[in-house]
Amino acid sequence: MNKQKVIWVDGHQHPHGDRGATIHETTEARQNVEVGDEAVLRFAVLSDIEFLRCPVELGGQDEIDWVNAHANNDTIVISCHHNACDDERASGVEAFYYNGNARGQKLAEMICERIASKTGQKNRGAKIESQSQHKSIGIISKTKGTAVLVECGFLTNSYDKKHILDPTLDNAFSEAIFEAVMEFLGLEVVVTPELKDDPLEEQKKIIAEIIEKTRVALSEIENFIEDL
Ligand SMILES: [Zn+2]
Repeated sequence: MNKQKVIWVDGHQHPHGDRGATIHETTEARQNVEVGDEAVLRFAVLSDIEFLRCPVELGGQDEIDWVNAHANNDTIVISCHHNACDDERASGVEAFYYNGNARGQKLAEMICERIASKTGQKNRGAKIESQSQHKSIGIISKTKGTAVLVECGFLTNSYDKKHILDPTLDNAFSEAIFEAVMEFLGLEVVVTPELKDDPLEEQKKIIAEIIEKTRVALSEIENFIEDL
């Protein structure tokens, strides 16, 4: 059986070329790659998935050509972007799918929901090309498979920016997209257990619980024998 293929595309070109939206602190292309770097760590270890990443320096038609050279009709394509707007109140996550592609719509909805729930950002929802700032979005309309373009949040909004720039918060984006794709594909998510502050204390607690359970079991056996 062929493995499920997932292709990750970092929007725009990094480190040179089209930087996408730009603010004082960063560029969109850089932030896209930061999320992509984390996505690689999550997807690439899975044996059920063949994970490919489009070279980060490619953009525009080159990006589309690369995807089509590597995708098949079942491939999931995730294109990662960040938004910007002159109105700094504009905020939230949205994801674009190809009009009429029900699978794309479902996946776009799932990604938006996950990001919104992990970050507290507004969910702007799943949208089609005509609802975007662009006439068409090549990465979703000219590629094989099911492609979704995710706008993780607005670099120009203070709440979204905090999540995008803070390294302790920004991994929520890759985590949310990863979990949504896995759920969409019906694959189990291997959750990394949270590290306890003090693993030794935690072990002592577990051992104490085992001793206590054993003690209860022993007294039950003693009572049982006495009753015989
Ligand atoms: Zn973009």
